[in-house]
Amino acid sequence: MSTDSPTVHRSWAPARLLLASLAGVLLLGVSGCAASEEHRPTVVVTTNILGDITRNVVGDEAEVTVLMRAGADPHSFGVSAPQAASIERADLVVHNGLGLEENVLRHVEAAEDAGTPTLAVGEAVGPITYTAGESADEPDPHFWTDPERVRKAVGLIADEVTEHVGGIDQAVVEKNASAYGAQITELTAWMRSEFDEIPAGQRQLVTNHHVFGYLARRFGFRIVGAVIPSGTTLASPSASDLESLATAVETAGVKAIFADSSQPDRLAQVLKREIDLDIDVVPLFSESLTAKGEGAATYLQMMRANTTSIATGLGAE
Ligand SMILES: [Zn+2]
Repeated sequence: MSTDSPTVHRSWAPARLLLASLAGVLLLGVSGCAASEEHRPTVVVTTNILGDITRNVVGDEAEVTVLMRAGADPHSFGVSAPQAASIERADLVVHNGLGLEENVLRHVEAAEDAGTPTLAVGEAVGPITYTAGESADEPDPHFWTDPERVRKAVGLIADEVTEHVGGIDQAVVEKNASAYGAQITELTAWMRSEFDEIPAGQRQLVTNHHVFGYLARRFGFRIVGAVIPSGTTLASPSASDLESLATAVETAGVKAIFADSSQPDRLAQVLKREIDLDIDVVPLFSESLTAKGEGAATYLQMMRANTTSIATGLGAE
């Protein structure tokens, strides 16, 4: 055996040399392409709404990778193997939390276990619970419908970025955050003035699923019900759910039902037929940004479009 061992070691030597020179070639290749890109810090964000918010904070200081594509459903989107690997390699992972991204949570948790810093934005901005439906008393993840909470989120994301992402200009990130925060403050004031035009007694919402609880609380709307009486799009309504919603809608004299534009509004249409009332079904961008040119490519654009649709749908002058 003692004579075999050196042979074994010697037989490895050429392979190791080859690997070493291969690595050298690879390194040369990388540095040859773009030396400044070598250690570009990366922030990985799960949803596209948080992706836009994070990009506004980070600017050009780091790479921001968004996992959820435009128009996807945050409750059901999944990630590819390369995306899952990118989560673990990130300098910081920004996610919504509160049970929103059901198929991505285990990857975020794995990254966390591996020591990657993560920020669950929804959990950090003062979550509320659902007040009705089958998700009653569970935390509501749809915090972005309240722009004031998003303004708070902007500050939190900036703090995490400056703490965990190396090689960035912290002053630039802080400046970005304060400029974007100011735009959101302006948005909130504008939304309030638009909603003030809705006749008293019409500030009530019926939506596809329970997605506007935060907006309702911030701006004083009553939630009459949801077509899917749940906090997730993954549930579906029973006949008796539809019936009781129909009764509630009739009793409250609701003028419009708001359906998510990223999903077929088939359910809302069914309800409209069932209660035999002249009710508009108005599409809203409730939980995903769209591609450019499709009405809600940014968070600010999405909120402005929804505000106009809600105000008009409920009879604002
Ligand atoms: Zn939702």
